[in-house]
Amino acid sequence: MTNATMTKLEAHNIQKRFDSGAGELIILDGASLTLSAGESLAIMGPSGSGKSTLLNIIGTLEAPTAGEVVIDGCNPFELSETDLARFRNKTIGFVFQEHHLLPQCSVLENVLLPTLEDPNSPDAEPRARELLDRVGLKDRLDHRPAQLSGGERQRVAIARALVNSPSVLLADEPTGNLDTKTAETIADLLTEIHRSENTILIVVTHSQHLANRYDRCSKIVAGKLETT
Ligand code: ADP
Ligand code: MG
Repeated sequence: MTNATMTKLEAHNIQKRFDSGAGELIILDGASLTLSAGESLAIMGPSGSGKSTLLNIIGTLEAPTAGEVVIDGCNPFELSETDLARFRNKTIGFVFQEHHLLPQCSVLENVLLPTLEDPNSPDAEPRARELLDRVGLKDRLDHRPAQLSGGERQRVAIARALVNSPSVLLADEPTGNLDTKTAETIADLLTEIHRSENTILIVVTHSQHLANRYDRCSKIVAGKLETT
C-alpha cells in the first residue's frame, strides 16, 4: 500500500528570494537536507525565518528560486503542472497549524478529499475509515468539523494527510493552536503514525520540547539549516 520504504528526500542548496518594494528579500540562502524513510526532523527558527517557505518548497507547493528538491530521484519541479499536482497528491501529506477542513463536509468526506483525484482507488474508503479509527474518531465519521474540538480537527487533518499513503509527511506547527495537553497527544499520534507508516516526517515547531522527540533538529539561521 505504501512505497515509503524506498523513499529518499533531498533538498540541495535551496534559495528563495522575493522582490519586495524595498528591494530583494533573501529568505532561504543555501538550505540543504537529506532524509530517508523512517527518519524524522524538527525545523526550528524565529518567526519569519523561512520555516514555512522551506516546508512549502520541500512539499512542492512552491518552487525555489535556485537549488533542487529530489524525491526518490525525481525532481518534481521538472514535471508538468498536472503531473506535479498528481505527484504531490500521492507522495506528500501536509498537516498545517490551521486544519483547513471543509466545513460543509463530514469527517469521513474530508479525509476522502485527497483520494477523489484518482477514481481507480477502491481502497480509499476502507483506508479512510481505518485511519479515522486509528486517530480515535471512528464514532465521529458523520460529524461536521464545527462539531469537533481543536484537537479532534487536527486528528482529522492527520488522517486526511495520510489517506493516500504518502511517503513524506510535513507538519507546519501542527500543535501551534492547541493547549499543552492536547498538543502532547497530537504529537504522540504523529510520532506513532510516522513509525507505523515508515514515512519521512518533518515538523516545524517553536517548541524545543516537541523538537526533542525527533531524530534530528535543525534551525534556520541566515537562510541555511544548521543542525543543533
Ligand atoms: P516562518 O514560517 O519561519 O515564520 P515564512 O516562511 O512564513 O516564515 O516567511 C519568511 C519570510 O518570507 C517572511 O518575512 C515573509 O514575509 C516572507 N515571505 C513569505 N512569502 C512571501 C511572498 N510570497 N512574498 C514576499 N515575501 C514573502
Ligand atoms: Mg510559518
